[in-house]
Amino acid sequence: MKFSILSDAFGEMEQTRKRTELTGILVRLFEKTPQENIAKIVYMLQGMLRPGFEGVELGIAEKTAKRAIAKSSGAPASEVDRTYKKEGDLGAAAQKVLQSKTQSTLASQEITVERVYETLLKIAGLSGSRSQDLKVRHISSLLNDADATESKFILKLLLRTLRLGIAENTIMDALAAAYAGSKESRPVLEAAYNVSSDLGRVAETVAALGIDGVAAFDLEVNSPIRPMLADRVKSEADALKKMGVSFSAEYKLDGERVQIHIGGGRVKVFSRSNEEITSYYPDIVENIPPLIDAKEAILEGEAVAMTHDMTEFRPFQELMHRRRKYKVSQAVSEYPISVNFFDLLYVDSQSLLDDPYMARRKRLEKIVKHDGDGFSRCIKRVTVTSEDEISEFMEESVAAGCEGLMLKADDSPYQAGARGSHWLKLKREYKENLGDSLDLVVIGGFFGKGKRTGVYGTLLLATYEPDTDTYSSICKVGTGFSDEDLDRLYQILSPKVMLKRDARIQSGMEPDVWFVPELVIEIVTSEITLSPTHLSAMDAVRKGYGMALRFPKFTGRIREEKAAEDASTSEEVITLYRGQVKTAAGDAD
Ligand code: ATP
Repeated sequence: MKFSILSDAFGEMEQTRKRTELTGILVRLFEKTPQENIAKIVYMLQGMLRPGFEGVELGIAEKTAKRAIAKSSGAPASEVDRTYKKEGDLGAAAQKVLQSKTQSTLASQEITVERVYETLLKIAGLSGSRSQDLKVRHISSLLNDADATESKFILKLLLRTLRLGIAENTIMDALAAAYAGSKESRPVLEAAYNVSSDLGRVAETVAALGIDGVAAFDLEVNSPIRPMLADRVKSEADALKKMGVSFSAEYKLDGERVQIHIGGGRVKVFSRSNEEITSYYPDIVENIPPLIDAKEAILEGEAVAMTHDMTEFRPFQELMHRRRKYKVSQAVSEYPISVNFFDLLYVDSQSLLDDPYMARRKRLEKIVKHDGDGFSRCIKRVTVTSEDEISEFMEESVAAGCEGLMLKADDSPYQAGARGSHWLKLKREYKENLGDSLDLVVIGGFFGKGKRTGVYGTLLLATYEPDTDTYSSICKVGTGFSDEDLDRLYQILSPKVMLKRDARIQSGMEPDVWFVPELVIEIVTSEITLSPTHLSAMDAVRKGYGMALRFPKFTGRIREEKAAEDASTSEEVITLYRGQVKTAAGDAD
């Protein structure tokens, strides 16, 4: 398949933000795609080469890209740099530079999707001292045969700056329309994606076997299941209203969600965003299988940092010391954890996803063996039937060092990949007047002054809008940061600096630098107000006004396990704003 078919489609997609138009372009692209290339194209549309949990990192440094452009075009490095500064994007700069050079027109071979994909895969697999030179060689060999537009998109793929604004739901709509007759079949594809976390495999299956093939998808050990998520509630009364007369309440521990797969002689650990994190938790790999009375199982739990005597929970931040490549065994002994199970999704060839929560929990209690060392246990659960019972359990959980409670409908199946009202979270901070916590995306930074010179002293934050795949600013935050936090944020954010604002960012402010919208941090606020400068929830409550957070404060939690698409949405902010207005009205009575 000619790569130009794909790059033309990328070009068309760049010109629109409208979901129906994007779907149409994708349907036409899929219709021209031979079956064996569907998965490759879907991964590339997602900005990846393989499903996320396989950890194949697509990406090269700007320096490498510049060298490859210079090599293929024959242009001096200074010209590449100058064009880059003007264009603000290396893909676009490559297009310009290559267009003006004769070499690019002497293409010796037509490039294919297969060749581009295989080369990108090769580049992703390179490491070590000679890898930079090899990468430059691979890239320039592609650029030599590609035309200027193709080159632009090859580089955008490699630099991960191909931002087409296509949400996964749009890809699924298009797959349903192209291979199953209509968009109506999307829920079947979505269900398959939710249990496999592999949209390429779902696409390949629907192309080969039609919708029945996809309907037969089931979970598999070692392939992560997209997590079931909770809605938030502000009070015990709200929880009762939503849940009915009797339901389960569990401690909400403050750690990292882990999905543990045991089977085929292996143990794998996946994060909330389905990234494989087995290497950070060798103690789970070693200690958990003997404590589980089953040959194969998929369990969910919260890994929590513990004091050395294993009697008390430590703050969530301590767990981040585990996220390292080297000296892992030192981190394991310095930062011990406990694993606190709350769900069982699969056991010995049997999927439990459709079983009611209570049945899954009972099965879980049966297979988790008692562990005298306190390394693993089932999370504490009780049945509640009144506001008082919830309050009492809430107090108990906070006294035990938890964030609050999870409330779960006893008869609910496991709704993979869905945030819904069968699970609710009631956090201590929602109840206190200090306000609600939001997970916001860092979109810009202001250089610090005085003590904060050399780091970003203030950050510009945004909510995510899933319908338009955009990020709208909601506040600037400069409080709540320790010196250590500021250093760490500077290190994480510096590689994300962009010359120009990403087209998906919407803000009435001009920070000193813009960032690729990727990092999520947690913020508490005392109030949500209407704002003429911030664009989150624009026009939702009053024409010409967005929403802003008043006195926002960083909680100390960098949400590395969350993708930017998992951040709080403006819809959540509107709900909180309305709740606040209602409470204020209630207070006045
Ligand atoms: P948060 O920002 O509150 O951690 P989240 O967006 O990661 O939320 P939610 O589904 O909204 O995910 O909240 C549930 C999270 O709380 C889970 O992802 C898990 O990490 C954690 N958790 C702690 N205790 C429990 C429990 N008993 N049951 C389910 N999840 C729990």
